[in-house]
Amino acid sequence: MNRRLRFGLAAIPRDCLLCGAGSGGNALCRACRNALPRLPAARCPICAVPTTGSAICGACLADPPFFQRTLAAVAYRFPVDALIQASKYAGDLGAGRALGELLADAIAADPAPDIIVPMPLHPARLKQRGFNQALEIARPLAWRTGASLVTDACARVKDTPPQASLPWKEREKNIRSAFACRKDLSGKRIALVDDVMTTGHTLNEAAKALKKGGAAQVHAWAVARTLGEN
Ligand SMILES: [Zn+2]
Ligand SMILES: [Zn+2]
Repeated sequence: MNRRLRFGLAAIPRDCLLCGAGSGGNALCRACRNALPRLPAARCPICAVPTTGSAICGACLADPPFFQRTLAAVAYRFPVDALIQASKYAGDLGAGRALGELLADAIAADPAPDIIVPMPLHPARLKQRGFNQALEIARPLAWRTGASLVTDACARVKDTPPQASLPWKEREKNIRSAFACRKDLSGKRIALVDDVMTTGHTLNEAAKALKKGGAAQVHAWAVARTLGEN
C-alpha cells in the first residue's frame, strides 16, 4: 500500500507497461520480464563486465575500483534502454517502478546493506529535470531490504556534461572529483544505486567519495549494464 501511494497510484498503469497484459500489480508481466536481455552468467564479480570463467577482470585487477561488487539486473539493450530513457527524460513513473522492481529481484539474495544511496544529480540538473530517477529506482529497494534510503550522503559538486555525450576516453576525466561526501559514514556498508552502468567511472567516483566519508564497503547496484567496451 505504502509503495503504491508513494509512486502515485493514479499515474501508474495496472497492466504490463510493455505488452498491456495483466501483470498482477507488477509493472511488467512475467513473460516480458523473462524476455528481457540477460547478462552473461560469467562476469567479473567486481564490475560485472563479461569475462571467461567469472574471474576478476584485468581492469579490476590492475586498478581496483572503490566499489567491491556490482549487481546488475539486465543488459542495457531494448527494451530496457527504452524504459530507462522514459524514466530519465520523460519522468515516466511506471517505467521507474519497473526498473526498481527488476533491480529489487536482482539484489534479493544478497545481504542487505546498512544504507542505500541513490546516485546524486547536480542541483542544477535536478532542478531542470524535477526528479532524480536513481532515487525512484532506489525506493523499492529500501522497502524490500529494510535499509535506510540516504539521499544526502554524497553530493554532486561538479555540473559535468552527461557521460553519454562524451567520447569513451574522455569520460573518466569528465567525472573526476565530481562528488563530495557530506556525512560521517564510518563503518557503513553502502549500496550505491544507478540506472545504467557503462564505463563504471561515475559509480567509481561516487564510491570514492563515500569511502572518503568512512564507508567500510560500497556495492554498486545498477539496473542495467552495457556489454560493450569497459
Ligand atoms: Zn508484458
Ligand atoms: Zn572487473
